[in-house]
Amino acid sequence: MITRKSRAEIEVMRRAGRLVAEVLAMCEEAIRPGVSTATLDSLAERHIRSHGGVPSFKGYHGFPASICVSIDNEVVHGIPGRRTIREGQVVSIDAGAIIDGWHGDAARTYIVGDAPREVRDLVEATRRALAAGVAASVAGNRIWDISAAVEDVALPRGYGVVRPYVGHGIGQAMHEEPQVPNYRTKSRGIELAPGICLAIEPMFTLGSGDVETRPDGWTVVTRDGSIAAHFEDTLAVTEDGPVVLTA
Ligand code: MG
Repeated sequence: MITRKSRAEIEVMRRAGRLVAEVLAMCEEAIRPGVSTATLDSLAERHIRSHGGVPSFKGYHGFPASICVSIDNEVVHGIPGRRTIREGQVVSIDAGAIIDGWHGDAARTYIVGDAPREVRDLVEATRRALAAGVAASVAGNRIWDISAAVEDVALPRGYGVVRPYVGHGIGQAMHEEPQVPNYRTKSRGIELAPGICLAIEPMFTLGSGDVETRPDGWTVVTRDGSIAAHFEDTLAVTEDGPVVLTA
């Protein structure tokens, strides 16, 4: 079932989304060589809880932390811990928060210091793919239009598109219908209408899009070891166009 959210509900989602955006900004500031991923996680958890939120990832299907920290060839769902960040790494942070029962979900990829041109281009293209997906999220379009806009950034550059993980509806649950693939599918999907809220989240790689899950049961890595990037925002489709709630 696809639910359309009222203006008042979207306003609560905007509060949750703002909290997530603050967490990501804090993580960006804190990421530097030598900092542990557990430190980022505790910063995030403290910020969410001290602002009346609940970290939605913590305990989700048993996930042990408030953010996901995925480094280099890790795509998503990396578990924070004692590992420390090093110069030149590509660090993706995914964060989620609930306020008054409503969710926000967003992710960013950061480069620690300097990285080769091709890595910087990958990160920038993934960011642009998210922006293209957001721009396509207008009433009257279909889910397919978002998927095509995202995929069109990856295809000419030869990036791998990670297919098993897709964007999603979001609201009183973190993952609602519909799914929002980062690639064209046979189905054109539902028509977008005001009140539909989505999390769009392109994941591109420098190699193939094939992924596998590490024995920890969570960390999704590229099968060929290539570097990956991941950007995500939560948005509302409105009469006035897409409104990003995690800005
Ligand atoms: Mg998500």
